[in-house]
Amino acid sequence: LAQLFRPLDFLGMVYREIRQGLIDMEAMFGLIDTNEEVKDAPAATALTEKGGAVRFEDVRFSYDPEREILKGVDLSVPVGGTLAVVGSSGAGKSTLARLLFRFYDVTGGRITIDGQDLRAVTQASLRRAIGIVPQDTVLFNDTIGYNIAYGRDGASRLEVEAAAKGAAIHDFILSLPQQYDTPVGERGLKLSGGEKQRVAIARTLLKDPQLLILDEATSALDSRTEAEIQETLARVAERRTTIIIAHRLSTIVHADEIVVMEAGRIVERGTHGGLLAQAGLYAEMWMRQQTEDEEALAAE
Ligand code: ATP
Repeated sequence: LAQLFRPLDFLGMVYREIRQGLIDMEAMFGLIDTNEEVKDAPAATALTEKGGAVRFEDVRFSYDPEREILKGVDLSVPVGGTLAVVGSSGAGKSTLARLLFRFYDVTGGRITIDGQDLRAVTQASLRRAIGIVPQDTVLFNDTIGYNIAYGRDGASRLEVEAAAKGAAIHDFILSLPQQYDTPVGERGLKLSGGEKQRVAIARTLLKDPQLLILDEATSALDSRTEAEIQETLARVAERRTTIIIAHRLSTIVHADEIVVMEAGRIVERGTHGGLLAQAGLYAEMWMRQQTEDEEALAAE
């Protein structure tokens, strides 16, 4: 009988793997989509993780041939380092994350993680290695416990609770009528933007990736919730290689390196202090946000 069920087990595993990949992408890009063109190379091997160092070498990319979106991007994030990517809307920031996840293949140059070209490793191993806290988290019509456990197959209740504690959402869950068994999503309890982000953080803690992509929400949370979420994210990013796609400059002041993108190119790079001293685009963005923040505070 065991023999009979083995293939089913295997199918289950494949199904979960595909589902995990889809959900990560769906969460990240706000759509369910698969890209048939990206396939594992016949000789693809599993990514050997050594801390998640990232390198983009003269990366070029276009979604369609007439319009180049990335026009030669060079960047590197050492193991444990934090890189922040800023720039105006449409500059290509999220495209960098999509390429790192190998949702598309580069059209020129190459991307490596721990020295291995993304095109030489299996997509399953790549997607296991990267954790994403997306702008907008998709919740399933299931319990909040299930929604967190989703971060890793086979997670125990204790591990789920530990992750929820790390994401500072455990106490909130205990206050719910059925605690971890409370249904959420469209047909259950609706969570606020901040609570949904905490679910995403808890999922990521369970996944425990060496490489982390934080895609900051453009939608405004109230300033207290935002400060609390930032604090939690900073803890999650500790000891991990992290790329932050940032909209709020105040959240990236301590990044090891900040790159400013403009129309598919990196036009400025440095630390927060260094960039302010350059008195260029970043300094201008910083001043503008300071003024906006003051106006928002005055209005609160
Ligand atoms: P934002 O800050 O608004 O999120 P961004 O810097 O992250 O912007 P990207 O999402 O990387 O920008 O998009 C860069 C460019 O690529 C945009 O001009 C966009 O229109 C284009 N683009 C994005 N996705 C696709 C796609 N699937 N097909 C064609 N063009 C696309």
